[in-house]
Amino acid sequence: MTVIDRAKLKSALAEEQRRFAAVRPRSKALSERAKASLFQGVPMNWMVRWAGAFPLFVDRGAGARFWDVDGHEYVDFCLGDTGSMTGHAPEGSIEAIVERLKHGTTFMLPTEDAIWVGEELQRRFGLRFWQFALTATDANRFSIRLARQITGRKKILVHNWCYHGTVDETFVTLQNGRVGPRPGNMGPPVDPAITTKVVEINDLPALEAALAPGDVACVLIEPALTNIGIVLPDPGYHQAVREFTKRTGTLLIIDETHTICAGPGGYTRAHGLKPDMLTLGKTIASGVPGAVYGFTEEVAELIRRNTDLDTSDTGGIGGTLAGNALSLAGMRATMENVLTEDAFARMIACAERFEAGVAGVITETKLPWHVKRLGARVEYWFRAVPPRNGAEAAAALDVELEQYLHLAALNRGILMTPFHNMALMSPQATPEDVDRHTDAFHDSVAALIG
Ligand code: PMP
Repeated sequence: MTVIDRAKLKSALAEEQRRFAAVRPRSKALSERAKASLFQGVPMNWMVRWAGAFPLFVDRGAGARFWDVDGHEYVDFCLGDTGSMTGHAPEGSIEAIVERLKHGTTFMLPTEDAIWVGEELQRRFGLRFWQFALTATDANRFSIRLARQITGRKKILVHNWCYHGTVDETFVTLQNGRVGPRPGNMGPPVDPAITTKVVEINDLPALEAALAPGDVACVLIEPALTNIGIVLPDPGYHQAVREFTKRTGTLLIIDETHTICAGPGGYTRAHGLKPDMLTLGKTIASGVPGAVYGFTEEVAELIRRNTDLDTSDTGGIGGTLAGNALSLAGMRATMENVLTEDAFARMIACAERFEAGVAGVITETKLPWHVKRLGARVEYWFRAVPPRNGAEAAAALDVELEQYLHLAALNRGILMTPFHNMALMSPQATPEDVDRHTDAFHDSVAALIG
């Protein structure tokens, strides 16, 4: 087996850093200026964690590409970590969004688009009733609240190394088998061990034991982990999750925010899952803030029975801008014209090509790595066999190696999703875009061995 030469890696990373800075004087100047008004010089704290010495400043995007302020063009396989899975300013939805902008965006009253969207969500995901939020975080928070309200139970259960947005209850990991705050959890309102049980994906005995006392309101899970790299469920895992949750009166919430990459009805439809509730945000309105959550007829009945709807406007579920006309226009146009069956077929074909390209490089170089795909999303791993759970996935991260591969890609006109090795295909991605990545990956990996 080939091993990475760490000394070569260090010098190759330094060289990519030098190249990155040398040709981006405008981004560099803007990042200096930003430090005077923006904390750490960025709009969001994690933007300092990109692989370059300073963040790229974006000029514009179109479809699968974007351009930085220094005029460099990139193929975008990050796509705003799924917020732009539609491609940037997609032709199929941009007109409807602009039209809505011209005629008023928020009224506290419904528009007809909301009904179209509700009907289409019913068709895609099979759940009866739908509500709206602005972010996937909020869709998750509202679903958890409803689950607590109607079950009368306090706890929730999540997978180890999950990510569901800035939801307090979900900032947890297993630490030597005990629930503890996730590293970096800022100002938790209470010790999350009070609110949350954590099990590894694919650990059915642990799940069964955690649900047995009957004190868990809901299981909130991604159907495959995507936020610590892609970790797929074992065959039969989801059938067992459904059986255990049903048996113990626990609601099952599936978060499709990332796994929507599996197809037009997400992983849920592609694999025939039957959740009680489902959440989805980010890409659903072509990058206009908007998110949805849906539930079954049975859940709806429990909400009716257990909720004082007259006081619910200040009951912890809502948001003045939720369900606004602009979000809804964006959602309608996105589902009608952009994230269609045809688009998914193209995106998945590109992802298969990406996967085959990376697999070819791994075989050729004899590195003990592998590559995994989930619909239109692909991830490569610095380990020979797929991780079976979050802890194995977290242990496989190699920050220095990742930084080098990300920077080498960036210097060759390719943006990967930061913090692990993930690529997502937009409907406008082409086989040539994918081959550009394969070539760059080949060259940058070859520089570390031999
Ligand atoms: N759910 C999942 C599965 C996510 O990956 C994320 C964000 N990465 C969220 C929810 C939260 O999305 P947002 O930050 O847009 O609220």
